[in-house]
Amino acid sequence: MTVRVAIIGFGKIAQDQHLPAIEADPHFDLVAVSTRSGQPPAGLPCFAQPAELFEGMAGKIDAVAICTPPAVRHAIARDAIAAGLAVLLEKPPASTLGEVEDLERRARDAGTCLYAAWHSQHAPAVEPTARLLKGEQIAKLHISWREDVRKYHAGQEWIWEPSGFGVLDPGINALSIATRILPERLFVEDAQFFIPSNKQAPIAATLTFAGVGHSADFDWRFDDGEEWAIRIETASGRKIQLCDGGGRLLVDGEQQLAESRGEYPSMYARFAELIAARQVEVDREPLRIVADAFLVAHRQLIEPFA
Ligand code: NAP
Repeated sequence: MTVRVAIIGFGKIAQDQHLPAIEADPHFDLVAVSTRSGQPPAGLPCFAQPAELFEGMAGKIDAVAICTPPAVRHAIARDAIAAGLAVLLEKPPASTLGEVEDLERRARDAGTCLYAAWHSQHAPAVEPTARLLKGEQIAKLHISWREDVRKYHAGQEWIWEPSGFGVLDPGINALSIATRILPERLFVEDAQFFIPSNKQAPIAATLTFAGVGHSADFDWRFDDGEEWAIRIETASGRKIQLCDGGGRLLVDGEQQLAESRGEYPSMYARFAELIAARQVEVDREPLRIVADAFLVAHRQLIEPFA
């Protein structure tokens, strides 16, 4: 049976990735959109508010993909679950761990499907790396996630607000890969946040994890392309490099082949499986690490960002 799905929040990621992934997946049929300002495909029912969509499409939708910023996601997802709909949450699943736990509990109580999706976990080299690292001891780990905020988040004011996470919005993608591939949990020992004096969220951050030589650098001031890399050395001396946001894997300098149908198509395939099984799949670890970093961070105010 085809799943009748609506997209809520029709910004960059909804248009760039969700729309084509849904259109290409025979399990799904896009039947409506909720947007205040976006331009949905012609002919689709469009609602300014999620509540209007739930009312107007009652009995005519089975699922929603919530692609808003995290700050408003909990309330929308709560109402969707109450309406008996399957829910896909863009990353991060909500703005706090408490909200995520609440959604998980509500979905389980209601017997509906809830999928807290982490698109980077669907990058082609992630599963092969997880298999490679199974049972290994990690001697060194360094995450380097650097890009130009003006290129990827131009005009997005929400991302600088307290629940926007700043540079940890893309940074959480790296952490979602790390938590999937590492055989051990990451604990934040120390963090340094660099916050423009006219913003609430960091433009750069460094994290030190428990364990010698376990660290991460996130920087939005990088205007020489982008670096989305995780470098690992195992206790047995193997050097593992995940590059291009999980797109490429090098083992001791040798590139390995990894194939995938694409992050979002793979994510929707998983959503279809979870809907069929009426399951809840929520991985809170990446958000837990970000929350821990915000708890221990030393904050340095720097020049305003314009
Ligand atoms: P965006 O371009 O700013 O789009 C978000 C959309 O959500 C807005 O266009 C707005 O659309 C809607 N919205 C509803 N309530 C809102 C509110 N209170 N404040 C602002 N917008 C509100 O952001 P995005 O880049 O698509 O990111 C959305 C989510 O996807 C974030 O959690 C982000 O981490 C994740 N994501 C983004 C990327 C990326 O490359 N940009 C990649 C992967 C994941 P309407 O006018 O339609 O209401």
